[in-house]
Amino acid sequence: MENDPFLSDLHWAADWEHLKNLAAGCTRCSLRAGCTQVVFGCGSIHAHLMVIGEGPGADEDRLGEPFVGAAGKLLDNILHAGGFSRETNVYIANIVKCRPPGNRVPTPAEREACLPILREQFRRLRPKIVLLLGATAAQTILDPTLAISKERGRWQKKGTTLFMPTYHPAALLRNPKWKKDVWEDMKEVVRLYRDLVDEHHLPELEL
Ligand code: SF4
Repeated sequence: MENDPFLSDLHWAADWEHLKNLAAGCTRCSLRAGCTQVVFGCGSIHAHLMVIGEGPGADEDRLGEPFVGAAGKLLDNILHAGGFSRETNVYIANIVKCRPPGNRVPTPAEREACLPILREQFRRLRPKIVLLLGATAAQTILDPTLAISKERGRWQKKGTTLFMPTYHPAALLRNPKWKKDVWEDMKEVVRLYRDLVDEHHLPELEL
């Protein structure tokens, strides 16, 4: 960190707004040159549940907020069904903060360049539970060889945080039959949230 002023600045950022401003000025990879803006994240900075996706798409790039297109609407529905929302008790971020051209998967080098921002968000939020949306998020955070179809629905612990890999909402739009699996995974998140955070937490739908 001492050798990289950007990482040092991230670490010592006075508060969340300062961190966001530092990220907004980031040019650590070439994605910044092709996007409209850095999409830092959104939600409650007091949340115990964090949701991590892959990267911004066209709508997110335009509006500056993650998961605001069709996949975002579906994510909001899934979260609401579990009693969560970005307005109250979830923080949502992506592995990379700038839109990859044509919505391609971010390269390992781009992910590596951007991870310090996510790590700093994670370090400050200290979420108890993290929902990882899709293979890119799960492979970047947990295991580069992870197969999402095999590992979704299985808790993985790192430090004191429990990670639940599941399908990305964009994949659900292409394969609606996977929605049942994601609901099963969300039920697990609700169950653990009740155990770890709030025993009175109420999902909108019957578990
Ligand atoms: S994707 Fe991340 S590392 Fe690359 S320029 Fe954007 S904020 Fe910086």
